[in-house]
Amino acid sequence: MSFDPNVKLGVLGGGQLGRMMIQSAIDFNLEIKSMDPDPNAPCKSIAHEFINGDIKDYDQVMAFGLTCDLITVEIENVNIEALEELQRVGKKVYPQPHVLKTIKDKGIQKKFYVDNGIPTSEFELTSSVSDIHSLTHLLPGVHKLRTDGYDGRGVQVIKSKDDISKGFDRPALIERFVDYEREISVIVARNKSGNMATYPVVELEYHPEANLVEFLFSPSDLSEDIQEKASELAKKTISALDMVGLLAVEMFVTKKGNLVVNECAPRTHNSGHHSIEGNITSQFEQHLRAILDLPLGKTDVIGASVMINLLGEEGYTGVAQYEGLDEALNIDGLHVHLYGKKLTKPFRKMGHITLVGNDLSALKSLARSVKETIKIKA
Ligand code: ADP
Repeated sequence: MSFDPNVKLGVLGGGQLGRMMIQSAIDFNLEIKSMDPDPNAPCKSIAHEFINGDIKDYDQVMAFGLTCDLITVEIENVNIEALEELQRVGKKVYPQPHVLKTIKDKGIQKKFYVDNGIPTSEFELTSSVSDIHSLTHLLPGVHKLRTDGYDGRGVQVIKSKDDISKGFDRPALIERFVDYEREISVIVARNKSGNMATYPVVELEYHPEANLVEFLFSPSDLSEDIQEKASELAKKTISALDMVGLLAVEMFVTKKGNLVVNECAPRTHNSGHHSIEGNITSQFEQHLRAILDLPLGKTDVIGASVMINLLGEEGYTGVAQYEGLDEALNIDGLHVHLYGKKLTKPFRKMGHITLVGNDLSALKSLARSVKETIKIKA
């Protein structure tokens, strides 16, 4: 290992994850180039160089990657063939293209879990809605698009035969509905030397309509035994993937206390945002340490923390206005992160708040009132 601050780091995707990665990269004095199809992406104003381009296009990703030493991603929906070629010509690409290939397609991802003895909900692949009629033994179930689904888009609950028509007429998978008690996430980092570090388990609470995370609570109060098993499962997953980088492993805890892996993301993740203020090393710094093959940072919590996603208010589309933010900033231990998105729309992730303190249950009720105070409207 020898740290080279002159490494030119290319990041595919210029959203909020890239933006927070740049904030950490500045501390390492790294130069970051960012590429995103949106000319006003959150990274545009803070990357050393911003390329407005199509991250799914082979030629554009090749041209971008050839000007960098190390290439990483903040989204998995990128041109993997270009990344493979970049690796062949000697560029470092982390996470490696084979990892992105396995995870990008939920069908391949699920098969990977089965092949590696990682517990996941029983599933079958489908190519059209009519296929579900012969798979009713998996109902109540969840129909999921194999590719291009994110933040709950591309996921449809099929409770019974009567709901089958709600399914997708595109390559998808149907899996058994898990009657879970909690949804948790474990972020694990692995560097090229094979060292691993997991973050303490966090619990996620979803917005009932938007199907995306509304609150995150850290650390979890699950039994030590379950937390230890969750941490081991995350390590087993990143090792089986032979991955270098950061992996967020989302799991269900069933009513019987068993763990079932829902899905994973090979990058920094919404379930690690609290770590900027709530843990010794933030997930963004940890990602850089992993891909630069540096020693991984300590992940312990500094205190209890709650992360609140600031979602665009329903019924408002247009230039974002932040109502109640000044009032909320009176609260001790409150940190704000705005993602620099000019336009708001219903449920768009516009920023997040982290509350840090000593007493998690007090923070939980405070978080619910903060959520009512801050409104993003147009
Ligand atoms: P996305 O990739 O869009 O985040 P997920 O596969 O994580 O999609 O599904 C979104 C949410 O739907 C999950 O966080 C969970 O709340 C619910 N969900 C997904 N799969 C199941 C399942 N098998 N059983 C019960 N709930 C599920």
